[in-house]
Amino acid sequence: QAGDARAAQIPRYVRVNTTMWSLDDAVKYFLAQGFSLGAPLESTKAFAQDAHIPNLLLFSPQTTFHADAAYKSGKLILQDKASCFPALVLAPPARKDAVVIDATAAPGNKTTHLCALMRNLGKLYAFERDRKRFGTLTMMLAKAGCKNVEPMNTDFLTVDPLDPKFAKVTHILLDPSCSGSGIVNRLDHLLETEEENQEAHDDRLAKLAAFQLMMIKHAMKFPKASRIVYSTCSVHATENERVVRAALLSDEAVAGAFRLAPREDVLPTWQRRGMPEETADPDDAASLIRCSPGEDATNGFFVSCFMRCTAEAKVPNKRKA
Ligand code: SAM
Repeated sequence: QAGDARAAQIPRYVRVNTTMWSLDDAVKYFLAQGFSLGAPLESTKAFAQDAHIPNLLLFSPQTTFHADAAYKSGKLILQDKASCFPALVLAPPARKDAVVIDATAAPGNKTTHLCALMRNLGKLYAFERDRKRFGTLTMMLAKAGCKNVEPMNTDFLTVDPLDPKFAKVTHILLDPSCSGSGIVNRLDHLLETEEENQEAHDDRLAKLAAFQLMMIKHAMKFPKASRIVYSTCSVHATENERVVRAALLSDEAVAGAFRLAPREDVLPTWQRRGMPEETADPDDAASLIRCSPGEDATNGFFVSCFMRCTAEAKVPNKRKA
């Protein structure tokens, strides 16, 4: 199926920014505008609530929001469904003493989602190494009313995990640069380049995977980190299951006693899970989330969640190298 046809099957997803607004008020707002609750793929005037993500609304793919007053004021955030999974899976605490990191933050969709889940409490450090994208991030944070976020124009890999400033970090979100191969309107283009230039393509994926692994291993060095979510918008196992497998076998994971969070703790109602043939232990696949472009009415996406085992929960290491 061509990218355009797949895109037509993906609703326009709109996340209600609960930092500024409530789901009830958003629903009333759209009803007052002449929308009705129904099937958004069947009518341009219908909208619905998402079955998996709280505060996410679905509209017809043709609906535009750029002139909408609630969008312009930051009360609504245009964010694909799959891209809402990572913050939800990380489940950061909503407490005054919470300390959380978003390691790769711009343009800020997931940072603003984390802020909303934290109810604007505690501290959320948001790193972004690119200066221009950092500018976009700070604008988005201001527009979304985020008060608990400290944006930093810094390469996460240069941050010292033993810096006292980060001593209380418990939750880390890692959504690093990837091939973007899951983004539906890029799929056709990618298929062509894959056929034409397989070697260059493989080389690029291998470099991305090495970088992604480095980011996870760095996150595992934060002494109090108990939960780390790693996500990509790639469909390639090289950037997904294989990176997770290497991370689980790393010295950092062994020293920090990290393992994958069990399925019950990682959006258990979502049916599409990781590829068992690509994980070190086939049971690990159930812990992983995949979204298939088009088929799941989302872009292609991957989410994993590492958690530190407490001493009593430690399990024997049965992984093969
Ligand atoms: N999480 C973002 C969102 O939902 O809006 C999207 C993140 S995008 C996939 C990856 C971002 O990470 C890019 O803006 C890139 O510049 C940034 N990045 C890549 N490597 C980084 C590093 N080592 N430290 C900090 N930021 C990095």
